[in-house]
Amino acid sequence: MTIPFVDLKCRSPKIRHEIAAAVEQAIEDGQYILGDQVAAFEYSFAGYCGGKHGIGVGNGTEALHLALRALGIGPGDEVITAANTFVATALAIAYTGAKAVFVDADPTDYLIDVDLIEQAITPRTKAIVPVHLYGQPADMAAITEIAARYGLPVVQDACQAHGALIGDKPLASFGTAACYSFYPSKNLGAYGDGGMIVTNCEKLAERVRMLRNYGQRTKNNYEMQGYNSRLDTLQAAILAVKLRYLDEGNEQRRAAAARYRAVLADHDDLILPSERPGVSHVYHLYVVQHPQRDELASYLQENGVQCGIHYPTPIHQVASFESCRTVPEGAPVASRLTSRILSLPMFPGITEEQIDRVAEVTRAFQKSLAVA
Ligand SMILES: *Cc1c(COP(=O)(O)O)cnc(C)c1O
Repeated sequence: MTIPFVDLKCRSPKIRHEIAAAVEQAIEDGQYILGDQVAAFEYSFAGYCGGKHGIGVGNGTEALHLALRALGIGPGDEVITAANTFVATALAIAYTGAKAVFVDADPTDYLIDVDLIEQAITPRTKAIVPVHLYGQPADMAAITEIAARYGLPVVQDACQAHGALIGDKPLASFGTAACYSFYPSKNLGAYGDGGMIVTNCEKLAERVRMLRNYGQRTKNNYEMQGYNSRLDTLQAAILAVKLRYLDEGNEQRRAAAARYRAVLADHDDLILPSERPGVSHVYHLYVVQHPQRDELASYLQENGVQCGIHYPTPIHQVASFESCRTVPEGAPVASRLTSRILSLPMFPGITEEQIDRVAEVTRAFQKSLAVA
């Protein structure tokens, strides 16, 4: 039995039929860039995320970049983010000309350590970009409290957290904006690239809408130097269908996480993910820690269990970001985690048998260690 890390293929004939009909409609309508289907999906996804405005863009990296640009962030500025995020968060900051400042991770939930954020703030700081890593919301109450004291906007990297809640509130209810990616493997994935900025700030929405479309307010009325970064109409049509099944998919992810927790609980060296109280974690990834991570990863692989590492290098050790500051120096927690973390197979539709098999192989690995 081979267990894939993710399985993106839509196996439901009903959903496939609905997607095909939506694509057919888009072809028939003839508006291939922007238009009604993009606007309709922007409206429904923004509402789902707790925001008044949704602006579809080319991908998640661009969602972050354009949100920061629209806030006026540029050369000479600093933007605070997490040391253990995906490289795209840091790239989006770099595109504006600002410098990323990397704050270390909390050792328990792997999210930005909120107790360190204030130490990272300088007169140059212009925004905080928390990352809801692996699908778990960061402590937005603490982050927005600090941000308010220093007058800083909070742009959330929600690229792994479609549908996550804090209490009973969706993410765009907090901070200045929430940025999403629709990369195929995300909890809400397109059949190609896509992204969206969701915000309750009308001014920000207006600026992002111009920035994504050459800087035009209306046709041929160029108010700023913008970009060409729009959500494709075909992708919007597909995403509008898939959005209706997002909660169901997230429930399946949460059930899979509960099963992992039950069957892996007695594995001594394994540290399982912890859920912050009061949040709904949507398990984009199921990340465990093991002191012999590389050996465990090879053993799983040899026995047909595909896994991943998210991410093998903390961003401040990536060559092109080495000149960025970390708080504290060297971000020791994030650095240590990179050699211990392992992402196990996780996707909606993963079966109990598949999860039990992962546990069985992991147990066999533990036994082989005991013998050696
Ligand atoms: C996927 C992802 C992004 C970037 O999204 P793209 O659509 O691939 O550009 C940014 N941040 C995080 C945390 C992500 O997981």
